[in-house]
Amino acid sequence: MMPVTKAFVQVYRAANSTEAHLLKGLLEQYGMPVRMFGEGLAGGLGELPADVMQVDIEVPVGYRQYARELIEEYENHGVASVAWICVRCAESNPPSFDICWNCGTLPGKGDVTRG
Ligand SMILES: [Zn+2]
Repeated sequence: MMPVTKAFVQVYRAANSTEAHLLKGLLEQYGMPVRMFGEGLAGGLGELPADVMQVDIEVPVGYRQYARELIEEYENHGVASVAWICVRCAESNPPSFDICWNCGTLPGKGDVTRG
């Protein structure tokens, strides 16, 4: 039996911290633990503009392929094109859906919206 590894692997290098945070949010929407590494995130470099920093996105090894697929979608079509997973019922939703087709939950929210 292989031991379960908790190692993180780099799946993407974001051009700046804004993109890094955007991707982090995207991946976390799918339940992935995400770590960010980059000069822009290190302490003591506060005087450098955040938007010129490259930031590495890392996920656990087991999520690597899934993360790469999502990031590829993002690269090809933008973040809005990536389907999202309902946090409440775990159904997959097309990116054009504002709320979960199954239970009406907003992306990233735990509460059902009320019309
Ligand atoms: Zn749902």
